[in-house]
Amino acid sequence: MKELGRFDVIIVGARIAGTITAAALARRGWNVLIVDRARFPSSTLSTHLFFSDTLRVLRELDLVEPILAVDAPRLRWLRFPYVTARFPQHDGFDFALCIRREVLDTLLVEQLRSRTGVTLLTQATVKEVVRSQARISGVVIDDGLQRWTARAPLVIGADGRNSIIARSVGAGIESRVPPLFAWYYTYFVGVPIDPEPAALAFRGDYPELGAEYAAAFLFPCDGGLTLVGYGLEHRAFAAFRTDVRRHFFNGLRRIPDAWERVTIARQVAPIRGTGQLPNFLRQASGPGWALVGDAGCHKDPHTVQGMGDAARSAWLLAQELAQSDPEDRALDQALARYARKRDQDLRPMYDFTTFQLRSRVPEDVWEQFEERTRLDPKLAELRVAAMVHAVNPAVVYTPERVQAIAAGASLDGHDTG
Ligand SMILES: Cc1cc2nc3c(=O)[nH]c(=O)nc-3n(C[C@H](O)[C@H](O)[C@H](O)COP(=O)(O)OP(=O)(O)OC[C@H]3O[C@@H](n4cnc5c(N)ncnc54)[C@H](O)[C@@H]3O)c2cc1C
Repeated sequence: MKELGRFDVIIVGARIAGTITAAALARRGWNVLIVDRARFPSSTLSTHLFFSDTLRVLRELDLVEPILAVDAPRLRWLRFPYVTARFPQHDGFDFALCIRREVLDTLLVEQLRSRTGVTLLTQATVKEVVRSQARISGVVIDDGLQRWTARAPLVIGADGRNSIIARSVGAGIESRVPPLFAWYYTYFVGVPIDPEPAALAFRGDYPELGAEYAAAFLFPCDGGLTLVGYGLEHRAFAAFRTDVRRHFFNGLRRIPDAWERVTIARQVAPIRGTGQLPNFLRQASGPGWALVGDAGCHKDPHTVQGMGDAARSAWLLAQELAQSDPEDRALDQALARYARKRDQDLRPMYDFTTFQLRSRVPEDVWEQFEERTRLDPKLAELRVAAMVHAVNPAVVYTPERVQAIAAGASLDGHDTG
């Protein structure tokens, strides 16, 4: 096998989590190898609403300007079935964006190409990790023509929910929740957009398929398109997928608010989607390795946390590593700190997303909490601020806070600016 060389860090995966980690470490002077099996421009199975938390991280790394230049409407409102509020002012960003992944991810990859200290390999698949004693010390890469060994004291898995790095290092599972929903989407032109553009979702059901809960969503995005999605409880997934197109449109038709906007528009792309959406939180690091983004934590997209979590975890890891040297003994301490902080950062929204939070408070308390969200705009604003991480989600999404808020606790003192 040929030797590709020795690097300070090898990152597997070059989308949100990988490109941010690579840009941040290269800026610190690290010699970075980043590898992706995709050929860019490349899409991925994902809708793509993202928030100010991602924009802030991209701005820190001088990656945001080309993203802001994309012709995607700035979405000022979140109008979801359980919460409606304006996006908060968050460090200069008071909007969300929805940019197709083949556009967004390609812009990020293109920017990486010109960064000093970054070697980017695309159309190259990592096949296995290399070990030296108890540590991970590199990877084996297949570029379609031959296999290469690349070596580094740190290997980072930014390789998505089926992460080969997580599997190879045996990353422990800290939480696992079975899939909750199946989500499908396509694109339309001609969907009317509100004067103040919003990310819209509407509640529905599909009793014939056994789903008491379903939802349609309409996110205005780049290219003059609107992303139109439909999803339903996972127990209806098997029946739904027997005829995706028919069930997608039958489901939408049952939700008048969504249907009336779609019926006057034109579908311009096939319907894509999946019900294979596991929820898990994996151990985030170990000797010589770390996981960022979906590789470390995957959850159902109904609370729209995936891209933001990927961006924030990548940033957090780079911040911790900044305090050590690649060959330094302090590396493992930095990795352990990262794992602790990532868990603290992700856990409240993960528990909310997976309904574990809801299961930890009495049902009537949860209903009071939801009722107050409907009636008290301050709480709706706080919940949206938590969703975009303009405030720490733990100010809302812990059993204690839900109980206190349901009982009428004051919401003052949480600056969303
Ligand atoms: C249906 C659906 C809808 C979603 N909607 C949203 C949404 O609206 N908003 C949101 O924020 N999130 C959404 N998500 C989640 C979001 O897509 C992910 O959280 C996000 O893409 C994670 O980014 P990442 O960089 O960690 O991993 P990924 O985007 O999965 O990228 C991983 C990369 O690793 C590469 N890779 C994998 N294995 C190897 C290997 N062995 N060798 C080389 N390269 C490898 C892949 O080619 C890929 O490019 C959705 C997900 C789904 C499935």
